[in-house]
Amino acid sequence: MLSNRVKQIGLSATLKMSAEAKAMKADGIDVVDLSAGEPDFPTPENIREFAKKAIDDNFTKYTAAPGIPQLRKAVADRIREDYGLDYAVEEIIVSNGGKHSLYNLMLAVVDKGDEVIIPAPYWVSYPEMVTLACGKSVILPTEEERGFRITADSLRAAITPRTKALIFNNPSNPTGAVYSRKEMEAIAEVVLEKDLVVIADEVYDKLVYEGMEFTTFASLGEEIKQRTIVVNAVSKTYSMPGWRIGYAAGPSEIIGGMTRIQSHSTSNPCSISQMAALEALRGPQDELADMRARFENRRDFVLERLATLPDVTCPKPMGAFYVFPNVSAYYGKENGVGVIEDSLGMAFYLLKEAKVALIPGSAFGSQDCIRISYATSMDQLEEGMARILDAITRLK
Ligand code: PLP
Repeated sequence: MLSNRVKQIGLSATLKMSAEAKAMKADGIDVVDLSAGEPDFPTPENIREFAKKAIDDNFTKYTAAPGIPQLRKAVADRIREDYGLDYAVEEIIVSNGGKHSLYNLMLAVVDKGDEVIIPAPYWVSYPEMVTLACGKSVILPTEEERGFRITADSLRAAITPRTKALIFNNPSNPTGAVYSRKEMEAIAEVVLEKDLVVIADEVYDKLVYEGMEFTTFASLGEEIKQRTIVVNAVSKTYSMPGWRIGYAAGPSEIIGGMTRIQSHSTSNPCSISQMAALEALRGPQDELADMRARFENRRDFVLERLATLPDVTCPKPMGAFYVFPNVSAYYGKENGVGVIEDSLGMAFYLLKEAKVALIPGSAFGSQDCIRISYATSMDQLEEGMARILDAITRLK
């Protein structure tokens, strides 16, 4: 009964692993969950209050499909304030999470057989979204030694006459890689030369460490801005993943196409969540620096613990809240429960033996690595890292 389209895709591996960890916890097992892709901080109080008021004001009807005008304007204002770029309200759409914006976007730009270049390691949903849009994913591997970043040359080599778009996720989930402006300028030249559309997933733009400057792809010149659609969300930045509000900024023709798709699928994002997002984007931004500092501390702690493990390598992640160590030196070893052959085997071993949930690198197109999320409390991280180190060193 299932369509061929659906037969080609699987359930998100990250959601599957989180569900498994939650189920073990529900059974009373003391699992340390380092699989989550969401901040552990509560949504700030001013945002929650604004949403409560929206309910009391009965702001509970359908809204305009691309979001309420004041929220679209608030998105444009935030981009102007943060990056000095101008977008008209017609160049902004608000969707049900960044994921939904990306999905609308894929349907709006990809035709059957179009190739979409996806640098690997990649966020789990990109290839599946391209498949659902009947496009063809072209996976562009990156090297650990180069910090998991593509180059202008590697991009050029992956382009064919059928290439339509490049997905550029900066900072990256799962590697935490962040590109310098200079690297991006070289990539942008290839984009212009080869007439590509850029899908710039920047949901971690506010989580960049050690004072490194974040560059939004659309800021690389007017011509680039005209072919770039930036996707962002309030999910990670304001600790609001469950509110399901994301947005995209780009040429009005594409935003209009995404609006048509959205109008026939989900209608509009939740009215109450839109009000909450309005407060998030327009209200005080001072909690962000504090959240970033706490994430940076946690990152340093995880890296320091990993450095004590012989033969585990890991480029320093400069953004997002993940560490992506290469644990392949331990493949072929065992500890009672059979030989660990790959990243899934390692994740499974750590879940069953150490009671730590994390995501196998294979979900992101990288068999050598595992993804550790540090979006959890320092107590949990200390316990989780101690268990991981103990379990891995017991492998023989
Ligand atoms: N893009 C990347 C790289 C992500 O890691 C995520 C969430 O994990 C998203 C997009 C989707 O964000 P949202 O929760 O707003 O749909």
